[in-house]
Order: sequence, then structure tokens, then C-alpha cells
Amino acid sequence: MSTPLPPVSRKTFDEVMVPNYAPNEIVPVRGEGARLWDQQGREYLDFACGIAVTGLGHCHPKLVAALTEQASKLWHVSNVMTNEPALRLARRLTELSFASRVFFANSGSEANEAAFKLARKHASLKHGPAKHEIIAFHNAFHGRTLFAVSVGGQEKYTQGFEPLPGGITHLPFNDVAALERAVTARTCAVVVEPVQGEGGVTPATPEFLAAARELCTRHKALLIYDEVQTGNGRTGTYFAYEQFGVVPDVLTTAKGLGGGIPVAAMLTTEEIAASLSFGTHGSTYGGNPLATAVALAAVEEISRPETLANVRARGEQIREGVLSTARRYGVFDGVRGMGLLIGAPMSAAWKGRAKDVVNTALRKGLWCLVAGPDVVRIAPSLVLSEADAAEGLRRLDAACAELAALPRASNA
Ligand SMILES: *Cc1c(COP(=O)(O)O)cnc(C)c1O
Repeated sequence: MSTPLPPVSRKTFDEVMVPNYAPNEIVPVRGEGARLWDQQGREYLDFACGIAVTGLGHCHPKLVAALTEQASKLWHVSNVMTNEPALRLARRLTELSFASRVFFANSGSEANEAAFKLARKHASLKHGPAKHEIIAFHNAFHGRTLFAVSVGGQEKYTQGFEPLPGGITHLPFNDVAALERAVTARTCAVVVEPVQGEGGVTPATPEFLAAARELCTRHKALLIYDEVQTGNGRTGTYFAYEQFGVVPDVLTTAKGLGGGIPVAAMLTTEEIAASLSFGTHGSTYGGNPLATAVALAAVEEISRPETLANVRARGEQIREGVLSTARRYGVFDGVRGMGLLIGAPMSAAWKGRAKDVVNTALRKGLWCLVAGPDVVRIAPSLVLSEADAAEGLRRLDAACAELAALPRASNA
């Protein structure tokens, strides 16, 4: 018998962890479906999904089965050898998308790093090193590696980390005229989220993506979609781009891909993939059999028409619920997003207080997210039941009622 480990709590975080996060007081210890339980045994409805990751809820039986089966078979072999789960997952992702080639990584940042490097390499090989400029957008989020924060459009994430990689231009999101002025023969890629997630749950306009496609084609640049957050059923189709009818050259995805196991992918065409020839890029863990076996099970579940139909139905239900809460208390100024990636922007009177809503909702037993200081973000399980959606909405409403009832001074 091993000796029991000494207890840990939120306080331990401050003693042993780098302070780059400020986690909530609650420490979840168990999850099942749409629910979580903390160290004290309190139950929460999870409308956050670990930031749009656990799309099938917690401990989905099919994922547990895939994980346990693979766990006793083969965990890791490196890319010196290929493996069956990775090949099966890659084949499935090509069936579900425009793509015919797949590169696996472990996180959204790494998938984007691969995409940006591919764009540079491809342009360099085909057109020479002058064609290296990457165009991205204000408020975009592409991850936390140095290249990813540099392409991302939020200065707070690059401050103090200079010098940054160069050749990156940021434009206003959804501004077709600005894009037309900026894309030139020197552009190697335009990088865009079909719905800006971290930046405030702001969908691209169809005209904007169509313009990006046309300009990229005309100037021989790659159109890269960052579907790290919007992919894997989150918006009601397997990938969000299907709803825009505008096909990219490269697509990155992660978050929901593994249902909670770290895995990411970059998808592209055979022709473009050829530029990442042998030895040009790699990852020790990328495509490891344990992660890809779980992801394969997740992709199978998510891509079922019933799952995607549920995303759309629950999305409508939650949007309506948020709107009725907005009408009752004036906290939100409407609702936006796609499928089960939903943003409720704070009204003028409640500016900067999205965090207050999230904290109060947590005390009512609902975990949701912010997307910046002014947007409450809701990203529940894709297989959420109608009853759980209604219960979560009741808890959100109760939180907003409590905040709205506070004396005016504290609402100032
Ligand atoms: C979360 C996110 C990333 C970064 O993913 P990590 O796994 O944290 O590296 C990149 N792009 C988008 C759109 C994201 O939402």
C-alpha cells in the first residue's frame, strides 16, 4: 500500500505554480456529462467545457472506452514510425473537410505554428523569400507561442516579449476595403477565425471571407482558417467554414478535436502539403496513438448528424434564453455567435462586468466563460440535453437577477 498523498487545495496553487493563471477558488475533481463536482461535492452545470474543449461532456462512455482500450495497447512511438489511430483519424478528417493531407500537433498554438511555417515555406519555395507577409486581424487569437501571439491581434499578449517575428500586418476584422488595400504580391497568407472566439465571439461576415478567398487566390497567398475553437461541431456543422461556403487552403483545429485529450491538427491540400517536405517540420508527440485514438472516437460521435442537429437546436434554445434574460434585467445587449459558441455582450450600463456575471453564475451552480471584459461566453457540451440547457439558463437568469437587484451604487 502506498501512503496517501497530502491534501491539495486552491491555496497550493499559489505555493507551487507559476502565477500566469488566476484560477477560481473552486477545484473540480469529477465530471460526468454536462456536470462537474468540486472538492466539497458541490455540483455545477458546465457551460464552459474547459474553454470549448470537452464537446461531448465529461467522461463520455465512448471516449473512456477508446482511451482505456488504447491505454493497454500502445501509447507512443514517435513519428519515426506511423501508427494506426493517427492514420485512421487523418483519413476521417480528410473525409470531413476540403483537405487531403493532415499534420498532427498537441495544441492549437502548435497547429497554427505549423500553418504559419507552411505558409512561409510554400511561398518561399514557389515565389521567393520576398513573399512572406502574413495578414491577420485585430482581436484575433491564435495561441501563445511567440509566432502565435505575434500573428494574434491583441497587444497585451506580446508586450515585453519583443523582439517579435516580423512580416505580420494586422487589419480591422470584417473590413473588406482594408483587406483589399493590404493583400499584395508579398502576402503569403491571410489568417482568420471564422468566428473570433477569445476576441468576443464575433462571426466573420460571409462577404469578408469571400473577399479574403478571392484576394488570396488572386495574389497566390494561402487562406488559413483558425478553427481551433470553431471546429469539431461547435458551431453546428463539423467545421464552421461549411456554413460560409468559402473554402480555405489550410485549416487548423484543436480544442474539441480530442474531447479533452491534447491533440491538434493542421489540414491542407496535397499540393500545399508538399512544401512541408521530409525534415522541414515535426513534433515528438504529434499524432501519438493514445491521443489520436481518443480523438477518432470523439470525431465519430461529433460528426453524427444527430449530434450536429442537437448543437443547432440547443444553440437556438440558449440564444432565446439569453435574450429573455437580457430583456428582463438589461444586462446583455443581444446575443451572437454560431451553434453552441455563444456570446452575450454586456449592455452599455454593464460595460466591463462580464466577469461579475460569470462569478455570480458560478455561485448559482453554472460555469460559463468570458470572452474579454465585455462578453459572457457560453460553450456547453454538444450533446447537452434540452432539460440541462433549460436548467443552465435558469441559473444564469438567477445570477443576473441577483446582480440587477444589488443597490445602484454597486451597479455603477
Ligand atoms: C484556444 C485557441 C488557440 C490556442 O490553442 P492552445 O491549445 O491553447 O494552444 C488558437 N486559436 C484559437 C482560435 C483558439 O481559440
